[in-house]
Amino acid sequence: MKNKIKHLIWDWNGTLFNDVQLSVDIINNLLKINKLPQITYEKYRDIFTFPVSDYYKLAGFDFNKTSFEILGKMFMEEYENRKYEMNLFNGAKEILELVRSRGISQSVLSAYKYDTLLEVLEHYCISEYFESVSGLDNIYAGSKEHLGIELRKKLNFHKSEILLVGDTLHDADVAKAMDVDCVLISNGHQSADKLKANGNLVLSDLSELKHLL
Ligand SMILES: [Mg+2]
Repeated sequence: MKNKIKHLIWDWNGTLFNDVQLSVDIINNLLKINKLPQITYEKYRDIFTFPVSDYYKLAGFDFNKTSFEILGKMFMEEYENRKYEMNLFNGAKEILELVRSRGISQSVLSAYKYDTLLEVLEHYCISEYFESVSGLDNIYAGSKEHLGIELRKKLNFHKSEILLVGDTLHDADVAKAMDVDCVLISNGHQSADKLKANGNLVLSDLSELKHLL
């Protein structure tokens, strides 16, 4: 992989943006409201998955009692109110800067809602690093595979020149659908054990990425 990358595609939540603890807190609030047992940070990272509705079931919710649409909306309302309590991962800006300095172009590919994603990138003063930003048109964090395939068509690079960086197995699936390489960082929404299961290349934090550039 070394020295060949010309375009780097970033996942947002759990990769550049450290919103893991906030997500655990909010899901625990929802569980409490629904009189269900709390989950730990570790359990969260073991059960989190895409589509997010599957993870809600694993957390203990029964959609016959409260629909996923209602739960998802409640989650996102609190998330939106509190998201700026969170921050970028340590070293995120440094790695964005390093990638840019190597002449590698960058984009964001996220299951987060597109217009909110633009606001957040602006808030953290990192919009300037990305030549393209892709996000969903709704708040329910389903698949971003179709966005990835659209993005791939726009990128005029050989598949070996594109690297997708994410924090979940969904990122690896999307990279596969796009026919590009993928690296997963294991301090986000899924545990290292989960990420390594399919033979993925897994790094412990963003700073390790510099060895791949
Ligand atoms: Mg993510």
